[in-house]
Amino acid sequence: MAEIGSIGIVGAGQMGNGIAHVCALAGYEVILNDISTEALDGALTLIDRNMDRQVAREKISAEEKAAARARISTTLKLTDLGSCDLIIEAATERETVKQAIFEDLVPHLAPHTILTSNTSSISITRLASRTDRPEKFMGFHFMNPVPVMQLVELIRGIATDEETFKACKAVVDRIGKTAATAEDFPAFIVNRILMPMINEAVYTLYEGVGSVRSIDESMKLGANHPMGPLELADFIGLDTCLAIMNVLHDGLADTKYRPCPLLTKYVEAGWLGRKTDRGFYDYRGETPVPTR
Ligand code: NAD
Repeated sequence: MAEIGSIGIVGAGQMGNGIAHVCALAGYEVILNDISTEALDGALTLIDRNMDRQVAREKISAEEKAAARARISTTLKLTDLGSCDLIIEAATERETVKQAIFEDLVPHLAPHTILTSNTSSISITRLASRTDRPEKFMGFHFMNPVPVMQLVELIRGIATDEETFKACKAVVDRIGKTAATAEDFPAFIVNRILMPMINEAVYTLYEGVGSVRSIDESMKLGANHPMGPLELADFIGLDTCLAIMNVLHDGLADTKYRPCPLLTKYVEAGWLGRKTDRGFYDYRGETPVPTR
């Protein structure tokens, strides 16, 4: 089985920074790529802050933090990732974006390099089929926030070989997380179940059944969820939620997955949740204030 030593991460947003964090702490050499300098700078600042918190809580030592940080480099040039053993693509949840990334990357890859995508919903088989190595392609789906959440979904495309699966499983083990295997159908397991619930919460708001606060309180106190569904949607990113609902709707052709028009409206407004400081809550002040 190919031993993974270096990991290239494409996309330095909410997920990319967390993936770089846990991979570097586990001893992998990490190259983080984005098209935006601000995203790369922001990711390093966040990684520093999150690792400092771990040092303060004595989860890692200051030396471990320093060693992990020294293993992370950043680049605006996608082709710098060509020599990595494993690529984890964590760019925006849009198929054309991901497809273009793999197209640009493939001519520069070493023959043994494994390609993976952190997509929440897009077909792994379809993404893989447009590369030169569908047998070395998998879904590698982390949960948000990556340093905290224990699960990684591993999704085999139709052509994924056993060696690739084992190599990815070994990475999940080494970063101290638990792998769940999912078949390659729209949104896999976690989001197939989670997103329709979030979408239903938005319908509940849209139809005036409850307010933002009463919906979140109801699910926290009535269903023992640690976060309300609208709070969680803001945390995930409303653009990502909408993209996943569209993939479910298109991929399963069932009207029960139709995205709520109110979710679409928030995304059209650019109110994408925490990452833009406004979504179902307004985060610009001391405490989050519901926007409806
Ligand atoms: P995000 O919007 O925070 O970050 C996306 C990043 O990708 C941005 O920094 C953007 O500049 C960058 N990007 C866009 N095009 C690029 C390109 N061509 N090359 C390099 N970088 C590019 O999004 P996110 O929440 O980090 O989501 C990233 C991926 O992870 C998506 O596929 C999403 O479905 C998946 N995911 C998200 C969550 C979540 O809770 N947010 C959870 C699991 C998986």
